[in-house]
Amino acid sequence: MALSIDLGPKARQFQDELRQWLEANRPEGLPLDDPNGAGGADGGPPEWNEWADALSAAGYMCVSWPVEYGGRGLSGIEVAVMNEEFTRAGVPRVTRGMGEWLVGPSIIVWGTDEQKAHFLPRIIDGTDRYCQGFSEPDAGSDLASLTTRATADGDELLITGQKVWTSGAQVANMMFCLCRTDPDAPKHKGISYVLTPMRRPDGSPNGFDLRPIRQLTGSAHFTETFITEARAPLFNVVGGLNNGWRVAMTTLGNERGGNATTQHTQYVRQFWETVDMVRQEGKDGDAVVRQQLAWAFTHAEIMRYSGLRILSEVLAAKEPGPGASINKMFWSEFAQRFAELTVNIRGAKALVMPEQKPDEYTPDAWQQNFLATRSVTIWGGTAQVQRNIVGERVLGLPKEPIPVQTKGGAQ
Ligand SMILES: Cc1cc2nc3c(=O)[nH]c(=O)nc-3n(C[C@H](O)[C@H](O)[C@H](O)COP(=O)(O)OP(=O)(O)OC[C@H]3O[C@@H](n4cnc5c(N)ncnc54)[C@H](O)[C@@H]3O)c2cc1C
Repeated sequence: MALSIDLGPKARQFQDELRQWLEANRPEGLPLDDPNGAGGADGGPPEWNEWADALSAAGYMCVSWPVEYGGRGLSGIEVAVMNEEFTRAGVPRVTRGMGEWLVGPSIIVWGTDEQKAHFLPRIIDGTDRYCQGFSEPDAGSDLASLTTRATADGDELLITGQKVWTSGAQVANMMFCLCRTDPDAPKHKGISYVLTPMRRPDGSPNGFDLRPIRQLTGSAHFTETFITEARAPLFNVVGGLNNGWRVAMTTLGNERGGNATTQHTQYVRQFWETVDMVRQEGKDGDAVVRQQLAWAFTHAEIMRYSGLRILSEVLAAKEPGPGASINKMFWSEFAQRFAELTVNIRGAKALVMPEQKPDEYTPDAWQQNFLATRSVTIWGGTAQVQRNIVGERVLGLPKEPIPVQTKGGAQ
């Protein structure tokens, strides 16, 4: 059982209200996890869409955004309460994916009043679904090396280049895209952050050619993304022309710390599924397995409390600091070790694919989880890059002997 914390009257009132609403409205049989991993980056599987709209209509979307921008201004404790009530009700805590988690908070910090009024409601009601156009074939950790170009054409930008690993691009209609708008400026200075429509007003593609990349898990939730003369209004540049690096840092900070209060719930659930599996395997008397389970449970609990701390920091400062990198390192390395542990406990059967038709490739849920978690120490900035950030910006250690130009790492 989780330690109980004193919620205080406001959070308790919210808990009562939410519990009643969930009791009356919760759908049955929805998948609880996004099988594509990557933090439900694109807002999750299609079966979640109707539930997402119901949550949005009831005001349970983008809940930690300030009230003046359509959120509920919930505190860290209240967001944690919300996650736990969803788990209790057996329904997924669906969000607006990258729109809610990455783009919206960056617009709140850097957007003009007109941009906030235009773009934020469209995220909340699901009109705009975003994918992240940061990484390129030669710009991953060293994100500022990106070469996708944008040139002004009247009151629009014309964007040409190649992005890669674009999660959820197939279901998105907008890309938050980093483009080079001043090729003569130092590499961090000539970049702009452009909210780019993926279709033209008549519905035809806006210069986007998406080529799915198949993953170890069998799914293809990201693409190589070729962009040829995509048009975006200058109005859609967030933070001002050539100031996109600062905006991107806000986005990346949220990517590393912004989901801090939601992620432990999935590991608590996975923990109890693992306990059931251990019982079925007849290994619940095995002292080593019991010790490993205790390790997993304590780590999920640590994640719960450090998540609350990070969210409180974000709500106070409006932006996550470099401490968000500690969160990213902690949960991603835990997720991998936990998945390895479940594979070890299952033994030889973990290595055998479930029975399936010829040409089919569908690992079982344990195998999927093991394979999907290989990627979590890469996306959102690799584990090595997070260590650099923690070493230099949190601990104040000397910089690397060969200066690293960027501390990038998109999703
Ligand atoms: C599942 C998944 C989803 C993704 N989704 C998106 C998305 O939606 N949008 C998007 O833009 N990108 C996305 N990415 C890309 C991701 O951001 C990059 O893979 C990541 O930033 C690393 O870049 P890279 O792959 O080019 O590796 P590289 O940067 O080439 O790194 C290779 C290796 O070198 C190490 N390394 C690099 N620099 C340093 C350094 N300074 N110090 C120490 N070690 C270093 C790295 O840690 C790594 O081990 C996704 C990636 C994955 C795996």
